[in-house]
Amino acid sequence: MRATVGLLFVSLVGACAGDVAPARPARVGLAKYADAVDWKAAGEETAGLLAEYLKVDTVNPPGNELRGARFLAERLQREGLEAKVVELGAGRANLMVRLAAAASTEKPLCLLSHLDVVSAEDAQWQHAPLSGEVVDGYVWGRGALDMKGMTAVELMTVLQLKRRAVPLNRDVVLLAVAGEEVDSFGMRAAVASDWPGCGGVVNEGGIGLKNLLFEGQTVFAISVAEKGALWLRLRAKGNAGHGSVPQPGRAPMELLKGAQALLGREAAPRVHDAMYELLRRAGAQAGGVPGFIMQRPALVDLLVQGKLLSKPTTRAGITDTCQVTGYSGIGTSVNVVPSEVYANVDCRLLPGTSADAMLAELKDRVKDLPYVSLEVVSKLESNGSTWDDPLFDALARNAVRGRTDAIAAPVLSTGYTDSLLARPLGARAYGFIPFEISQEELATMHGKDERVSVANLQRGAEVLFRAVVDVAGSP
Ligand SMILES: [Zn+2]
Repeated sequence: MRATVGLLFVSLVGACAGDVAPARPARVGLAKYADAVDWKAAGEETAGLLAEYLKVDTVNPPGNELRGARFLAERLQREGLEAKVVELGAGRANLMVRLAAAASTEKPLCLLSHLDVVSAEDAQWQHAPLSGEVVDGYVWGRGALDMKGMTAVELMTVLQLKRRAVPLNRDVVLLAVAGEEVDSFGMRAAVASDWPGCGGVVNEGGIGLKNLLFEGQTVFAISVAEKGALWLRLRAKGNAGHGSVPQPGRAPMELLKGAQALLGREAAPRVHDAMYELLRRAGAQAGGVPGFIMQRPALVDLLVQGKLLSKPTTRAGITDTCQVTGYSGIGTSVNVVPSEVYANVDCRLLPGTSADAMLAELKDRVKDLPYVSLEVVSKLESNGSTWDDPLFDALARNAVRGRTDAIAAPVLSTGYTDSLLARPLGARAYGFIPFEISQEELATMHGKDERVSVANLQRGAEVLFRAVVDVAGSP
């Protein structure tokens, strides 16, 4: 059965897909630094550090990231590392520390994270969001995954580089910024006046997900690109009046027509090269007929695209999307028609769709509605980094090190992170939290019971350290 179907597909598409491309090999003579670390002890130390850090309240709004920055600065100072805390006013701050190379041959490698976390409904949690409790092998608290756990792993990486006096061929910078969860306040400040000139960036974005495409296979997703965001206000203005007599030109009803016109957009699917590459790598390891199909973009378009379109999460990965995210206006009485109402519209754009192009398309859709207008609230263009890159390869190779049931592959993120602000400054930015979690654990990010296992902190610390040494160390 398998062979027959396989032959049919070969005759359909002709070309062969080939194996998973061999990543760049590890650089010679560097493994010794990681091999000398007691990773069990380092994992426990990372867990202890995170447990304390989770107790530091940096819920945004208001942020209070200065507390988080001081906490990290104090940990660094204990080991003789002088961190720079850049105060941004009203209790807010960024933190930066640099391990300098004797002679740099490349721009710095930056380990980026954000200091703030989103709010949590305390009563819903098994262990309070600011408790930092360690129970049943997990460290509990808001930010365990997004993203204080990653900051702890990045901090441990810097501490190990310092403790082992690893010679560097480029500077390694730890940069923790304020405000990512609301408006990228800290990153905007860093970019404007304190940018360390990163050549490579490791940030949040992707993570390892168990059973993502195949039962028993883990996909370590490394984000290489992010969709852009066009935020709009769809506004309707008309005459105020009485609710008893419907009339044309009344703002609330005209707004619905405008929203309807926007919803009439047919989303044309466009599969990003990262998606083809992820399917190719997953398919090559899984084998069988599904694996055969997934390794061939032409067959993916023919046979898989429909499936991708049928699920909201994957649909958002291959189309430009717009949705109404809320309504507001003047007046709340049921029997009074207000003169003005508006809807918030959040559009997310694939690489290749500019904000202006989407705006023009949407304006065209409402052009025959005289009471309706569209205003731009903000726009951020999509961007991405190539995955043909030593840092990407080092992250991918170490994520799956010693594993035959896991792949690492590039992805396009539907949401954006601070990486979107780093790339225009010349950095290749990769979003990768080196933990391996279930869908259930993933749902705790911004939800309740956020936690990370001590085992993940141990493995994550080792993966990141090995990757950093591989691209920034000298034998
Ligand atoms: Zn985050």
